[in-house]
Amino acid sequence: MKAKPFTITDVGVLLGVQRLPGGNEDSYNVVCPFCGDERGKCNFVVIKSGELVNVYHCFHCGAGAGKGFDPPVYAAECAPPYAVRRKRDGDL
Ligand SMILES: [Zn+2]
Repeated sequence: MKAKPFTITDVGVLLGVQRLPGGNEDSYNVVCPFCGDERGKCNFVVIKSGELVNVYHCFHCGAGAGKGFDPPVYAAECAPPYAVRRKRDGDL
């Protein structure tokens, strides 16, 4: 059995990145884990033109990674801002 690839969607779910309405499983907007933008400026693209790309970009703060980036590295990159914000908001 072929292993299912680990995608940016898996990372987003694990980190609690909030998905915004609209889009589809291949491409959708999220609440930016870096700047907190909730207007849909941050976009996850899992599959583009039938190919697994796993890219993300925030058009508000400029955070992003292009094709070929490693989803686990993304997890490490965006976990600290979440922790900081949760702490600020009194969750931690
Ligand atoms: Zn952002």
